[in-house]
Amino acid sequence: MNGSRIDPAAARPATDARRAASLLLVRDGQAGLEVLLLRRAERARDWLSGAVVFPGGVLEAGDGEASALVEGSSDAVLSARFGLHGGMLEHALAALRETFEEVGLLLACGEDGEPARPAAAWSTWRSRLQQRQATLAQACTALGLRLDLRRLQAFSHWLTPPGTPTRFDTRFFIAPAPAAQAAQADAGEALELMWLPPAAALEPARGYKLFPVTRRTLQELAAFADVDAALAAAAARPAPLPLVMPRHARTRKGPTIVVPDHLAFAEVCRLDPEGLAHDVMAELVAGQPVRLSPRILRVTAPNPGVMTGPGTNSYFVGDPQADRWALIDPGPADPLHLAALQAAAPGPVRWVLATHTHRDHSPGAAAAAAAFGAVVLGRRPTHAQGQDSDFAPTREPVDGECLFLGEGCTLRAIHTPGHASNHVCWLLEQEKLLFTGDHVMQGSTVVIDPPDGDMAAYLRSLQALLDEDLQWLAPGHGFLVAEPHAVLRALIAHRLRREARVVEALRAHGQAQLDEMLPQVYADTPPQLFPVARRSLLAHLIKLREDARAVEQADGRWRWLGD
Ligand SMILES: [Zn+2]
Repeated sequence: MNGSRIDPAAARPATDARRAASLLLVRDGQAGLEVLLLRRAERARDWLSGAVVFPGGVLEAGDGEASALVEGSSDAVLSARFGLHGGMLEHALAALRETFEEVGLLLACGEDGEPARPAAAWSTWRSRLQQRQATLAQACTALGLRLDLRRLQAFSHWLTPPGTPTRFDTRFFIAPAPAAQAAQADAGEALELMWLPPAAALEPARGYKLFPVTRRTLQELAAFADVDAALAAAAARPAPLPLVMPRHARTRKGPTIVVPDHLAFAEVCRLDPEGLAHDVMAELVAGQPVRLSPRILRVTAPNPGVMTGPGTNSYFVGDPQADRWALIDPGPADPLHLAALQAAAPGPVRWVLATHTHRDHSPGAAAAAAAFGAVVLGRRPTHAQGQDSDFAPTREPVDGECLFLGEGCTLRAIHTPGHASNHVCWLLEQEKLLFTGDHVMQGSTVVIDPPDGDMAAYLRSLQALLDEDLQWLAPGHGFLVAEPHAVLRALIAHRLRREARVVEALRAHGQAQLDEMLPQVYADTPPQLFPVARRSLLAHLIKLREDARAVEQADGRWRWLGD
């Protein structure tokens, strides 16, 4: 999930970063979209040494002079894409100049608008530009050319985080490669030029040295089938294009850099808004407490696995002034985890809350309540299968009830049946942060296992959360998640797409056993997950039965009833 829109660094320009621009030149190859990359020469004490990058570089004093020679765009148009009043044409022109210098391709046309054809004089001007003996405007005037921005689009905006030797504030542009020209490496800067499908450039076997920004940009480009699709998507991105600032963070292995596709990105941005801290963990480590706000402390249980991801998150929630705390999801009954919770407890714990009674969430409740002298709140399971049958709450919370932990700390219960019929999310109202248990997990879809799991109820519960004012999700498994509404809408869309495939399979078969439909409906799922997927398939079929669109026959086969 892209967390960049919540990045507070986006609000301020970086004064210590060099202004830079880069051009993604794309063309349609035999296997689809290809992008031009260059491998930098190996040089001692050069941080760019050997890196595979897109053409680009920093702005030069004369770059703006070529503004009068531009065809097909304007400073106002390009600047608006970045939410600015001016200055972005100069960046685009710098990208064009750097591209000409580095790879010999010039986005230019004649006075008649026809694509420019290279002439002998081009190489002379290329070396003058490389040696800073001329400006792009002088080169174009001498060659009788105009700069052709008719198909150029703004693409993205990246800022090197603080704590990096040289910081760049880089605007990325994308344009189709000029058809009548052939790229030629500049022996000084570029060792090798490569036209590659973006996914191929990412293959580990190639061993390319890729900066986080290059890697992320290649991942984005890999989603596009051809040049037209890439340009259309760039044009459709809403303005202003968000500023993306990676963050220095750490894992148990040492320092790391996180970018928006990293699961930890939104959380790291929240905990290190300026990018100055460098010590935020980009990994969920069992037993290691993480302070998410003055009101929230997370301790992850040592139960990682296929169904639990990095482990179950237990959250202490409270008002530091009132010093009254609740513990949401005590996790499995594991003495190690209880010891970690006792060591991490920020103050007196009065309540132990269970979002639901699956065995990775509630079995630790009794021991935690005894250790802290707390009462247990949670709804009892309505089906026995897969549940913590020993769960014995002091009280069962009802939908809408509030738990007051202090002046500035209110938890509101939201009954969210679906994953489990007794599932309750807790909303920390002051932070618009929802503890989601397993109703929403980070990075994976949750299991809906009938009869306790109910697909129709699950979709209703997701839909109901869209009416809540939310800023963050704190899932039972995973890091904090930003942009909750976008995430909820994506989850609903994902389930409805799956339902459409179930309908398709039923229509095709007329009537079929679960196992006959499974490989077709879950063609995108690894076969080792089929036993779990089979339960979700059943949940979809039960929903279709409730919708009167399918029926289960006496022989166990499901029959399509029509639309
Ligand atoms: Zn669960």
